[in-house]
Amino acid sequence: MSILVTGGAGFIGSNFVLDWLSQTDELVVNLDKLTYAGNLQNLASLQGDSRHEFVKGDIADYDLVLSLLEKHQIRAVVNFAAESHVDRSIHGPEDFIQTNIVGSFRLLEAVRQYWNNLKQPAKQTFRLLHVSTDEVYGSLEKTDAPFAETHQYQPNSPYSASKAASDHLVRAYHHTYGLPVLTTNCSNNYGPYHFPEKLIPLCIQNALSGKPLPIYGDGQQIRDWLYVKDHCSAIRRVLESGTLGEVYNVGGWNEKANLDVVNTLCSILDELQPRADGKSYAAQITYVTDRPGHDRRYAIDASKLGRELGWKPAETFETGIRKTVQWYLDNQAWVVNVLSGDYQSWLDKNYAER
Ligand code: NAD
Repeated sequence: MSILVTGGAGFIGSNFVLDWLSQTDELVVNLDKLTYAGNLQNLASLQGDSRHEFVKGDIADYDLVLSLLEKHQIRAVVNFAAESHVDRSIHGPEDFIQTNIVGSFRLLEAVRQYWNNLKQPAKQTFRLLHVSTDEVYGSLEKTDAPFAETHQYQPNSPYSASKAASDHLVRAYHHTYGLPVLTTNCSNNYGPYHFPEKLIPLCIQNALSGKPLPIYGDGQQIRDWLYVKDHCSAIRRVLESGTLGEVYNVGGWNEKANLDVVNTLCSILDELQPRADGKSYAAQITYVTDRPGHDRRYAIDASKLGRELGWKPAETFETGIRKTVQWYLDNQAWVVNVLSGDYQSWLDKNYAER
């Protein structure tokens, strides 16, 4: 038996594949289109490992997805594949509609076809887990209760609207066709292999390069933060023990204003790698025009996952963020490669299109 991971060369997907294979020998088939966000260097430690099979391709390719499901007798699908960057969705929503909505639809269709043809007991145990975001719930005021699974969907960006659409399709495939699905809605992740366009890796990298640390608006936008390995353990738990058709919120109980996150990064960097002039990295903080329609606050109530499935995060924000800064300091070669054309030539050399 084996599992199909989509988007497994991205930030969370690659952490998930590494985490999965550190705990089990089951084959992981990894289907990823390798957009700018997909990076096979995240999985370099698996080169030559027969438990990992990488396939370059699109979740919107029904025939490809169906053939992989059949060929490998897949017992579970974990869908990470998505366009994931809010700013990019504002400047160019089309890719988000294509992958997050059309792609998810075609993936569901291929899975439905495969599942329909499965014999018992494989049909009974098959699962599709769809990985989604807390951004589908919209924005909260400071005094509002955190998002529960029953919170109304109110997506505000093209990214969150496209993820919301995919969540609805997943839900509908369960209700209409009985497809055995699970959905997780998680808060902001941080940790190793995070593409340096997102707040935390961007600020670490800019700090080290002497560049400005950009803060949107007043920096008081609040997000809940979860260390990526805790997200992986939550997905594993939901896949193993979740109730089919249910939605599980995943979060770290770590609400932080963006400005506080950046100040924390600066003080850890001040300690671990002080600036040559002795000043704090906080001197590089620069306020920039706010993102249009920027949601003010996300906060997630992950108590259902704790209560029903016994999950809790292993890291606090303080321990996780320190590990993250240390990882970026130790892996500057990875960052430099991601930001340069070297990565593309490494890719062309190591992986031909299948
Ligand atoms: P990412 O952008 O780092 O990775 C996405 C991966 O999907 C990339 O490897 C990319 O090449 C691949 N991909 C894109 N389009 C594809 C397609 N059509 N077919 C196959 N592969 C394709 O994203 P991430 O941060 O790792 O997020 C993974 C999932 O988790 C997304 O669904 C996202 O919505 C969700 N999520 C992310 C966060 C977060 O904080 N990053 C939080 C909650 C939920």
